[in-house]
Amino acid sequence: MYDVIISGAGPAGSKCAEVLAKSGFKVALIEKNTQWRKPCGGAVSSRIFKYYPQIRKLNFHKITGMIMYSSDYNKLKYSWEGIKHHSINVDRLIFDNYVRNVAIDVGAELFDKNISYDFIIKYNNRIGIKTKTSSGTKEYLGKIIIIADGMSSKLAIKSDLRDKWKIEELGLVKCAIMEGKNNLDKDCMSTFFKPYKGYAWIFPLGEERFNIGCGTFGEDNLNLNLNQLYLEFINDPNIKKLLPKSNYKEIWKGAYPVPTQGVNDESLYGENILLIGDAAGFVSPISGEGIHAGIVSGNIAAETAISALENDNISNLTLKSYKTHQYIKKIIRNFKMKRSIVDFFFENKGYNFSNMLKLANKDSYIKEKVINMFLYNQPLTKELLLRIKSTNE
Ligand SMILES: Cc1cc2nc3c(=O)[nH]c(=O)nc-3n(C[C@H](O)[C@H](O)[C@H](O)COP(=O)(O)OP(=O)(O)OC[C@H]3O[C@@H](n4cnc5c(N)ncnc54)[C@H](O)[C@@H]3O)c2cc1C
Repeated sequence: MYDVIISGAGPAGSKCAEVLAKSGFKVALIEKNTQWRKPCGGAVSSRIFKYYPQIRKLNFHKITGMIMYSSDYNKLKYSWEGIKHHSINVDRLIFDNYVRNVAIDVGAELFDKNISYDFIIKYNNRIGIKTKTSSGTKEYLGKIIIIADGMSSKLAIKSDLRDKWKIEELGLVKCAIMEGKNNLDKDCMSTFFKPYKGYAWIFPLGEERFNIGCGTFGEDNLNLNLNQLYLEFINDPNIKKLLPKSNYKEIWKGAYPVPTQGVNDESLYGENILLIGDAAGFVSPISGEGIHAGIVSGNIAAETAISALENDNISNLTLKSYKTHQYIKKIIRNFKMKRSIVDFFFENKGYNFSNMLKLANKDSYIKEKVINMFLYNQPLTKELLLRIKSTNE
């Protein structure tokens, strides 16, 4: 019998397992496939160093700035070199296995090639999970169950905590890691806001390696063809200036959905169960970033579970303190703010966004506000929103 069973060893599940195992609890970390490279841009903010200080010393690609482009290719550049710590761009296959190993090193037991598909129920109580493996089904018994198996989680739905996401509630995203000589600013991430509900990116991963991708969200998931948008993006003359070669080597490519509605705060916990990471919607509705928020949710869920186990009370009333933790409340608030502004950005084929970048380039006060909104989660004031909308720049 495990103290805690965690389904999914992505960043959220691995951090959760690490914190629990470090405190001496018996943890089973169930993973579908440790050799799967999660489709992802791999951009991780410097906030990661609070949770993994050792990552500073590793060889992940350092980033000290970003360039945001509007749909008509106005751009705003911001460098945080000397202002805050560098962020990193990672290859998810390397990053995910690194954070899994951190958890294993402190005592978490990883069960690879196990696909969790249902709960074990006894006398109406969830007492464990069932998995499929190449040698048949397996059962893992545990006191607390933590769902960390990402946006496609079956257990999250079987738990009755939330419904399956509708297609309009997701982002559909395609990306690749490519290699070859290019004209990218190696210290900077580039993001491209589109005239439809969608955005694209190019994130350097080294001197000649980069991650490139694009996605749609909302009703445009149904209106547009992602493969076509991806081809249009990489062949766009503006992108060709950055990536002039015609035959970049494709190291890897993939496509995957991402939740875009922010945290599902009504469905974070139940009787002896917690939802963390993508499975619970811990993803920024503007940028699609979810690695950091997932790790924070995993950390707080572990602390909540520790306190519940120590007090021998794993009821939903006790586990509620996960949702009311100040860090979780802050993430919920930030993502709600970002969700409220997304439609504004994409109104009139991205006109507002383009206007905002033009104003920010002319006025350092506005630039500061825009940067604070993207990087430090400070909402734009109503006055500024009105000015962006009404100014005919
Ligand atoms: C294309 C794309 C680009 C993105 N770009 C960025 C970015 O640049 N920066 C950023 O911060 N975020 C980005 N995100 C979001 C980010 O990938 C997620 O928010 C983050 O990975 C969430 O971590 P997680 O641990 O909750 O889930 P995941 O990383 O999805 O991990 C879930 C784990 O569970 C395993 N699993 C799944 N089903 C089962 C099962 N049935 N049984 C057992 N194991 C299972 C999976 O194999 C996986 O290891 C992007 C997402 C997409 C789709």
